[in-house]
Amino acid sequence: MKLLLFDVDQTLINTGGAGVRALDRAFRKILSVDNAMEGVPRHGRTDTSIVRHALTARVGEDAATPDVLETIIEAYLSFLREEVELSETYRVLPGIVEILRELSGRADAMVGLATGNVEMGARIKLDRGGLNSYFAFGGFGSDSEKRPELVRRAADRACRSFGSDIDPQDIFVIGDTPLDIEAALDAGFRAVGVATGDYNVDELRESGAECAISDFAEGRYLFSAFIE
Ligand SMILES: [Mg+2]
Repeated sequence: MKLLLFDVDQTLINTGGAGVRALDRAFRKILSVDNAMEGVPRHGRTDTSIVRHALTARVGEDAATPDVLETIIEAYLSFLREEVELSETYRVLPGIVEILRELSGRADAMVGLATGNVEMGARIKLDRGGLNSYFAFGGFGSDSEKRPELVRRAADRACRSFGSDIDPQDIFVIGDTPLDIEAALDAGFRAVGVATGDYNVDELRESGAECAISDFAEGRYLFSAFIE
């Protein structure tokens, strides 16, 4: 059995900034802070660690209590659906629908998510593109603030649903940032880079991806050959 675990933002879809706008609105509503996300690194990070970073930067070291984190993430989710729906540049990335169709038609492959989004956020983002039906399970930012841990959780859920262990050599984590790649390797799995975000193929390879493709339209055959 092969297990393919996909990141969400810049790997499956691009929301056209809906996530950052929803986070900004959450900070404005809860803390009356404007442009809270300015300068806060987001790509490849978990929702909780992004909010924690912004709270520390805008309010102070002690601001990120579990209660405040939860309140902001709840407000974020309440704005996210609208921001995703209204986003003018939302798109499903090239070749994604085709590769998901192909993989989900195989009896020897399972497809899941490995994303820093809290699960509800990932589901809202994927819903507009009609992609939720491909992903019965995943590891999410709501499972752990640390990416290697949520990748492991995704694999655990896959094994439980498969009813048996899956060889780590057959587990592939697909993402657009060096943090996705590092998390895959840290968890003991294999890493595939896709250059549809801020990093190019060479950068993804240098960060440890065994296979890196420009996107799933161009790189579909390379990817399919690699996972065999
Ligand atoms: Mg990403």
